[in-house]
Amino acid sequence: MSASIVSISSLSREQLSGKRVLVRVDFNVPMDSNQAITDDSRIRAALPSINFLTQNGARVIIMSHLGQPKSPSPEFSLRPVAKWLADLVSVPVHFAPDTVGPLARQLVDQLGAGEILLLENVRFCPGEILNDPQFSRDLASLGDIFVQDAFGTAHRAHASTAGVAAFLPSYAGFLIEKELQFLDHAVRHPKRPFVAIIGGSKVSGKLAVLRHLLGKVDVLIVGGAMTYTFLKAQGHSVGKSLVEPDRLEDALRFLNDAKSSATKVVLPVDHVVVTEFKADAYSVVVDGNELDADHIGLDIGPKTISLVTHEIQFAQTVLWNGPLGVFEMDAFSKGTFAVAEALANSDALTIVGGGDSAAAIAKCGLTADMTHISTGGGASLEFLEGKVLPGISALERVHV
Ligand code: ADP
Ligand code: MG
Repeated sequence: MSASIVSISSLSREQLSGKRVLVRVDFNVPMDSNQAITDDSRIRAALPSINFLTQNGARVIIMSHLGQPKSPSPEFSLRPVAKWLADLVSVPVHFAPDTVGPLARQLVDQLGAGEILLLENVRFCPGEILNDPQFSRDLASLGDIFVQDAFGTAHRAHASTAGVAAFLPSYAGFLIEKELQFLDHAVRHPKRPFVAIIGGSKVSGKLAVLRHLLGKVDVLIVGGAMTYTFLKAQGHSVGKSLVEPDRLEDALRFLNDAKSSATKVVLPVDHVVVTEFKADAYSVVVDGNELDADHIGLDIGPKTISLVTHEIQFAQTVLWNGPLGVFEMDAFSKGTFAVAEALANSDALTIVGGGDSAAAIAKCGLTADMTHISTGGGASLEFLEGKVLPGISALERVHV
């Protein structure tokens, strides 16, 4: 981790005992229409920091957002999350029905050492997304120490993710520390060969990542729907596959820049195609890169799978972002799942970013076999584009 960011692991029991520790986590969990939580992995991901703090006698005050409410509304209340959290920890969990108001203040004052108070949704307050200094000050006044552990929102400069850090001694939680270790340190100082596999649906969303990785990775494999913008830019016929016409020039420029870089760029060499985009459509494999006028490419073909798995075999570090086909439909999931298996069987450091990529790995039950799967979709993408994340750079101004 960057020298000027300090981890909570450096905080001693003396420094934490009885102290009010304000922790920003990402409890933006999916819920059904009855407000029942359908996936609690984000809550579980925050437990190492929360448990460390309670075990060291801190009074833990948790902040999070849930959804994108513009004003207070019951369906975006964090109350159900407080109940859920109470079942996952062994200490009392209280809930504050307001965020920085008199009730919250009173509950903070009453909070015992080693206990937890979850504040109501920070986005109920307009100052949150405006990163309003007064709201940041109000939040900061509830704590003695700030811990940032919400990697999923670290790319947003909001009051609870960044603003509050200006007013309190600030530390990175374990989740942020782990993300930095893999997305930052491992990418900047990789064990080589370093292979990146970048797929997904849109070139426009991934071009910045591709550019950032050029010259840094030894091999850059491009897959997914993005392939067809690149192939079309090279003059191939791609039929009715997904193409972003306004990115053809960018794609060609990227391929030209790649020629004079240290990175070998690999494009697919065969394709699983259909003439109708539906799950049970009749599909065939096209060898080579010339598709018929009515073909839609939905997955990489067997030769490309061999090419990718071959590169993985020799790699020491692999970074993967973006599925290589429409993995949501069984008929077009082979490429993505083959890559997931190859990564699971590899001794390389395997780092995965992107919500759909993580979902694809979970779908084939290989989550535990990856070295690191990032918890932040947008945040990990911005990180891999080389951008500075406000919620992380704010921690560099440490007041100790
Ligand atoms: P991530 O969330 O991992 O960053 P993206 O959001 O960039 O990934 O892309 C995931 C989507 O890309 C998936 O829904 C998948 O169906 C789609 N996709 C992959 N290959 C193709 C293709 N050949 N044609 C159309 N969509 C594709
Ligand atoms: Mg996605």
